[in-house]
Amino acid sequence: MAENKKLKIVVGYPPTISAKGVPLLSQNRQFQYFNNPTFLFPVAMGTAATWLKNLGYKTYWKDCIAEGLNTEQFFEFLDEEKPDMFIFDTKTPTIKKHWEIAKVLKEKYPHLKLVLCGDHPTALPLESMQNSPIDFLICGGYHDFASVDLADALENKKEIPKGIWYRKDGKIVENGRYELKKKLDDAPIIDRKFTHNERYQKEFNLAGRPLAYIMSGRDCWWGKCTFCVWDHTLYPLGTFRARSPENVMEEVKYLVDEIGVKEIFDDCGTITVGAWLKKFCNLMIESGYNKKVMYSCNMRFGAINAEECKLMKEAGFRLLKFGLESGNQETIDRLDKGTKIEAVEPSCRAAKEAGLMVHLTIMVGYPWETKADAMRTYELAKRVMLKGYADVLQSTTVIPYPGTPLNRDAVKNRWFRDEFDPYDYDAYDMAAPVFKSPDMTLEEIQQMCNKIYSIFMDPRYIAMRLLKIKSWQDLLYTLKGAKAVLGHVEDFSRPVPQAE
Ligand code: SF4
Repeated sequence: MAENKKLKIVVGYPPTISAKGVPLLSQNRQFQYFNNPTFLFPVAMGTAATWLKNLGYKTYWKDCIAEGLNTEQFFEFLDEEKPDMFIFDTKTPTIKKHWEIAKVLKEKYPHLKLVLCGDHPTALPLESMQNSPIDFLICGGYHDFASVDLADALENKKEIPKGIWYRKDGKIVENGRYELKKKLDDAPIIDRKFTHNERYQKEFNLAGRPLAYIMSGRDCWWGKCTFCVWDHTLYPLGTFRARSPENVMEEVKYLVDEIGVKEIFDDCGTITVGAWLKKFCNLMIESGYNKKVMYSCNMRFGAINAEECKLMKEAGFRLLKFGLESGNQETIDRLDKGTKIEAVEPSCRAAKEAGLMVHLTIMVGYPWETKADAMRTYELAKRVMLKGYADVLQSTTVIPYPGTPLNRDAVKNRWFRDEFDPYDYDAYDMAAPVFKSPDMTLEEIQQMCNKIYSIFMDPRYIAMRLLKIKSWQDLLYTLKGAKAVLGHVEDFSRPVPQAE
């Protein structure tokens, strides 16, 4: 039992209320306000809260978004508990809102130390230090490790660790990037009761309930895709770390035995393959947990072969989420995706033949793609879905977040539509495409998103889905999926905001 520390620390998200809907922060690499929200458990933040609590800090988990707290309710909580520090996470479309919230909090609670982390503050740390009264900014991923280091420095009056920006004598101390010195296995297993895993059950991709999000690595061993904000800000090339298979297995056992979890989604950008995957699968099989829980994860085309698909199925894997992104090889190459269009069908087929489900993620609205190119993406997705090689898809417009090579290229090459201001961060919320298209209007790009979703309405797809319904659970899963598709279509059918 750790000795009690003096600091009282809140970890989470402030109320982030918007007429646009519920903001999807957490592991959402592609931000959206949703009418039909899903709440993904924020793994690094949950680890930070658990770790601080375990170390003896009086810690509070306050995800006001998932908890549905408004500003007054959050103030009531702060008035009552009087914490010393609030660590919160943000992204580009919410950064301005969070700067304003920081101002309000600082005015009302001058003693409350505000600690900001996330991909946008990491990409542009000086900007957030200048535009808001935050006390500290964690520059880099691994903000759970950094939060623990910061708390230790404040509790024990030590030097502020490298990678955490702060103020001294009224001046901003630019303190570099946070570098992980420990192993990911050194972090504790997230306490799901303390962090209210039950609030993170609205998710249409996963069949088992209760479900839990974990990360077996951060973030992606490929790490190059030019649009991928996490892998160019929080966890850039060379900083990828994976937990050991044994450590992940320990979390699986805890989730099943203590929380009753029926499905786990491993939200590592791409799960580690090769010897790591083999070892993890064997641990699942030998321990018998392959029969107790379903496991789903992100995957890359061409990263695993048919044998590995079979082993994953035997190990309890259920769904693999592949980034298709585009049906055009030129786009894939320009994005530095490192995959081949010709690998799409064989990869999906191998997964399906092994009994796994396949989820495709697709984007439209690339500044160089014509309508004919976007149609090629649609045709590929449709072919794969109607052949039964993929089960689910999601389609979004591409957004070049600050900190990504795609954003830098967009500024350099003037790819943004004329009325779009790259510094209007609110407008990165996917309410409208941000790029000019060679031959499509903004509405046509949005419609292309919906056209891709319309594959779900194809009678051949519906017939295939109906034939797969074998139980009430299958039926429920299918109905939830249908509801989510309608929600997505609604999100992309909103009128495109016009320039003032
Ligand atoms: S494969 Fe996925 S997680 Fe990895 S860099 Fe590309 S988009 Fe990001």
